[in-house]
Amino acid sequence: MKMTDEMLAQIRTSVRHAKNSRFYQSHFAGVEPDDIKTIDDFRALPFTDKDDLRDAYPLGLCAVPTDEVVRIHSSSGTTGAPVIIPYTRKDVDDWAIMFKRCYETAGITRADRIQITPGYGLWTAGIGFQLGAELLGAMAVPMGPGNTDKQIRMMIDLRTTVFTATSSYALLVAEEIEKRGVKDRICLKKGVIGSERWGPKMRKRIASELGVELYDIYGLTEIYGPGIGINCDRSEGMHLWTDYMYFEIIDPKTLGPVKEGESGEIVITTLQKEGAPLIRYRTHDITREIMDPCSCGSDYPQIAAILGRSDDMVKVKGSIIYPSKVDEFLAGVRDASSEYQIMIDHLNGRDQLTLFFETKIKDGKARRELEKQVAQGFKKSIGILAKIRAVSIGELPRSEKKTTRIFDNRY
Ligand code: ZN
Repeated sequence: MKMTDEMLAQIRTSVRHAKNSRFYQSHFAGVEPDDIKTIDDFRALPFTDKDDLRDAYPLGLCAVPTDEVVRIHSSSGTTGAPVIIPYTRKDVDDWAIMFKRCYETAGITRADRIQITPGYGLWTAGIGFQLGAELLGAMAVPMGPGNTDKQIRMMIDLRTTVFTATSSYALLVAEEIEKRGVKDRICLKKGVIGSERWGPKMRKRIASELGVELYDIYGLTEIYGPGIGINCDRSEGMHLWTDYMYFEIIDPKTLGPVKEGESGEIVITTLQKEGAPLIRYRTHDITREIMDPCSCGSDYPQIAAILGRSDDMVKVKGSIIYPSKVDEFLAGVRDASSEYQIMIDHLNGRDQLTLFFETKIKDGKARRELEKQVAQGFKKSIGILAKIRAVSIGELPRSEKKTTRIFDNRY
């Protein structure tokens, strides 16, 4: 994205500061911050990836004396050591300022009552939503995940106006509200949904069942947490807070910059972070920059909704499959819900892809007709032949954290 002289100066400062950490002392051995004079000098710096952060466990990323650290967060690793991110007082305050800005961008005010369902604890989500709500002066209702009975009761009794959740948990709660027939007792106006890619169909369902306007919030534990960008009322994309971070979009294969407006992986450099500054951190999130200025008048640049993760793309029979393409395809199938799962197996020397999707249709014959129709459409839009299995609504797992859509059993 656009790089100003001011950003370059901030980057030099951030690189100099990062070199106080044990990790960057070795990762950036030989890098002279003052030599970074142009965007090309900056692009010559090595990337930082999640495995690097794991290797720095526990506090190898810390760039300040440890008595300046007021909190740590940790991102969940599926394998190996977790990643620990230390925060100073300023880091925590900056995060709250960004989060408050997110709420304001979504038109949320101190008169709102914000029910927070993402988890608290080592994970950054819940506490970030909380900090921003308190700084805004709104009433925070810190529920954390789970206990759907109590969630709905609080929502009714406290007249909550804003619901914050992952998309899969928002869907679960929306379905429960419909099942119990309590929609007319719900006062929700807005939903702030974070940390997961979600398709247009799921979005429409949550919005209509909860009767709310929805906002996507962006972020990751390694870089503060959720709250580093959000979509406004006018935009399909998310505004990013470029006074705190510099964003690049790179081709995940060549690792060079993509052309303006093309899809690629987001790479983030922190400009103000003290506890764990990160330089050229690879998020593996795929999106594109929206080049047209937003009609809301904000100067903060925008990215489109996250398309998927570069590590979620799977190659089957020579075709690349992005979960977002499957979302899009199913959105066009009238009797299919937004929920699906893909299994990829290697049987008798061949790759076999099976798509499970949910439908309200109960009649066996009608289901087989629908499966046939989905198989043809899938071949046409995704490009490969798949085995199709329709299942009933609610049969596929919902999760309070992230929902895995593609299971690759070939390796
Ligand atoms: Zn805007």
